[in-house]
Amino acid sequence: MHTALKTSIKHIILIVLLLTVLKSPAQAGHTEVTEWQGDKNGAVSITYDDGNINQFKYALPIMERFKLPATFFIITGGIPGSKYHGRFIGRPVKEIIGESATVPTNAQNFLERCSAAGYLGFKGTITYHTKAASLYDEGKTTEAYHLMDELYKKVRDGNFKPGYEPSNEVLQEKGSTWADFRRDAALGYEFASHSVTHASMPALDSVNIDYELEKSKAEILDKLGAKYTFSAEVPYGYENQRVMQIAYKIYPALRNRMPEPWLKEIDRASKETPGNTNKDYIQWQRGATTKTPLPLMQAWVDTAVAKTNTWLVLVIHGIDGLGYEALPHTLLNTYFTYIKAHENNLWVATFGNVTKYMREREATVIQSKVDKHEILINLNSHLNKAVYDVPLTLKTFVPDEWKWVGIINGKHIQRIKVLREDNESFVIYSTVRDQITLVKE
Ligand SMILES: [Zn+2]
Repeated sequence: MHTALKTSIKHIILIVLLLTVLKSPAQAGHTEVTEWQGDKNGAVSITYDDGNINQFKYALPIMERFKLPATFFIITGGIPGSKYHGRFIGRPVKEIIGESATVPTNAQNFLERCSAAGYLGFKGTITYHTKAASLYDEGKTTEAYHLMDELYKKVRDGNFKPGYEPSNEVLQEKGSTWADFRRDAALGYEFASHSVTHASMPALDSVNIDYELEKSKAEILDKLGAKYTFSAEVPYGYENQRVMQIAYKIYPALRNRMPEPWLKEIDRASKETPGNTNKDYIQWQRGATTKTPLPLMQAWVDTAVAKTNTWLVLVIHGIDGLGYEALPHTLLNTYFTYIKAHENNLWVATFGNVTKYMREREATVIQSKVDKHEILINLNSHLNKAVYDVPLTLKTFVPDEWKWVGIINGKHIQRIKVLREDNESFVIYSTVRDQITLVKE
C-alpha cells in the first residue's frame, strides 16, 4: 500500500480509538481524586518572605478579614528568645584571616572564606558574602575569589568597625516575637523556614548550610511545633543543586524547587506562562515588584482559574516602605479582594497544604467495589498520614438511577445529591479516611 494512504488510515484508526475512549462513560464505582481540593479549577498560595514586621502589621489583618490563608517564611536567628543565632562553624577566624595574607582565594578555600565572611568580628562584611555567593552561583568564580581577597585585605588593614551586623532582612524583622507567630499560627497561617540568618547558601560549605537549615528547623519545632517544619525557602530563591540536595534532607517541601517528576515549575525570573505540558501540575511563581501593574497581577489569577493544572504561588517581600520591592498595603487590599472574588474557582491554601494535596493525589491508589445499592471505596498510599493529612476531594461515578447518596466516612454520614454532566452521574465529596461507603438513598 502507498505510504501516505497507510499513514492516513492509521490516523483515522487513532482518531476513532480516541473518540471511543473520550465518549465511553465512566463505569459506576470509578473514583478519582480531583485535581485540586473542592474540585476547584486552580490553586493559589500567598507567600511572604523574610518575616518583615510590616507583613504582620499591615498585610495579615487584610487576609484575616478575607479569611485567606498564607505562608510566612521567617528568618529565625534574630527573633527575641531564639536559641540559635548566626555563627561560623569551622576553624578560628583569626587563622583564616592570617592565611589570607599569603594564600589567595581559590577553589579549595573559597567556601570556607565565604562561610566565615559575616563572622570575622567586624560590621559591614556580610554584603561581601552575599555578592560573592551570587557571582559564584552564576559561575563567575574568578570574580567571587577576587571579592573575597578584597574583603580579607580590608579586614587585615583594619578598614571595618568591630562588631557584628546581620543582613538587612534580619533587621526588617525587628518587632516580631515568637508569641505573635504562635498566635498567627493558631489562626491557620503556615510558618516555614527561611534559614537562621538569610545566608547565601551557594557560597557556604556543607557544614554551614546544615547549620542554617537544621537550626532554623529546630528553632521552629521548639517555638511553634512540628507542623511548621514542612516547608522552607532557601534565601534569594537559589536553585543550586548542592544546596537543594542538603535542604531536601531537612525539609520535605522547598519553594525554590521540587523534585517531583509530575510537576513543572516556572520560576519568578521566567517570562514563560503556563501552557501545554505533559506534567500533571504546573507551579507558577510570580513576585510583584513596585513596577508590576495591578491588571497584570489580576491576570495571573485569571490564568490560574482558566487552566486546570496551575498552582499560582505569589511571593511577597516588603510592605509599606519596609523591605525588598515594598508594595503598599492598599494595593494588596485590592488584590486580595480580587482573589477572594474568584474563590469559587480557585483553591486558596498554604504552600504546605497544596504540596501535600498534590503528593497525596499522586500517591493514592483507589479500588472500588460496586454492589447493587452500595459502593465500597478503598484508598491506599505510602505517605505518612501524620504529615499528609490534607482532606482529599473524591469524584465517584454512580449508576444513573441513583439520585441521592449517603457517604459513610467512619462514623460520619453525609447525604448528598447526585450530579449529572455529559450523560454521567457522579458525586463529589471530601475525605480524610481510607475506607468510604456510598449508599443509594
Ligand atoms: Zn528572603
